[in-house]
Amino acid sequence: MKLVYADAYDLNLGNHVFPSIKYRLIKEKLLRDLIASPQDFVAPSAATEDDIALVHHHDYIRKLQAGKLSYLEILRLEIPYSPELVRAVWLGAGGSILAGRLALQDRAAVNVGGGFHHAYPDHGEGFCVLNDFAIGIRRLQKDKAIERAMTVDCDVHQGNGTAAIFAGDSTVFTLSIHQENNYPYPKPPSTLDINLHDGVEDSQYLDELEKGLDQALRKFQPDLIYYVAGADPYRDDQLGGLKLSLDGLEKRDRLVFEKARAKNLPVAVVLAGGYARRVEDTIEIHTNTIRVAKEFAK
Ligand SMILES: [Zn+2]
Repeated sequence: MKLVYADAYDLNLGNHVFPSIKYRLIKEKLLRDLIASPQDFVAPSAATEDDIALVHHHDYIRKLQAGKLSYLEILRLEIPYSPELVRAVWLGAGGSILAGRLALQDRAAVNVGGGFHHAYPDHGEGFCVLNDFAIGIRRLQKDKAIERAMTVDCDVHQGNGTAAIFAGDSTVFTLSIHQENNYPYPKPPSTLDINLHDGVEDSQYLDELEKGLDQALRKFQPDLIYYVAGADPYRDDQLGGLKLSLDGLEKRDRLVFEKARAKNLPVAVVLAGGYARRVEDTIEIHTNTIRVAKEFAK
């Protein structure tokens, strides 16, 4: 299974709650634990402006490129603006396009990055600048590689940007399972939102997710799933209020892949959030997801 990765995904944010160093640490752990070998990693090309314009407004793209975001727009991103940030998110979007293509070829692929589901067409927020996997879906549709896609968003925060981007689009089914009493507010409706109460643990989470996946896949037949595999439903996450264990999160991954395999659907994984008090836990959760994905690849 191919892993899309670039060193430049790391934004070098230092002590920021978003540990962007995680991408490099995941790569190192995958190699150390022999889950991947060096030749499994492929470097993405930066998305083109045409790719990005399939989702984002020209005005917003220009402001990002020219460093012309307003103070309030930068505040809303909650991460500092820099030319390196622009480079990283352009690469991340290229990475999610590539992961989608590779998943169509190999049944499963991972962008060891991406999952920036809070980015809207005209603005970014909550650490998300460009909605990389929405761009992936639009690119693959435009290339006629797929007609219909499903997003399965298991980040603890609702996928507001994704919901807004695909609102009213019958070719994309957006499923989001998240903590209701948490950012973002408001939550524009996904095709299917599973709103969980604070403190939900493994068994209830897995029940709700299974019901949701069954319901979604009964109604809708996608050509590709983007799995937004946030690590932040974890019980020791600083920005999440659910109580999943490491084992529960791996069962979650397995459930998504098993449901996809039952319908013979390829899955592209993007990582999204993860803010565990111990960064090692975030790394372990993401690494487990990648190990499970590999079992389901060709
Ligand atoms: Zn999150």
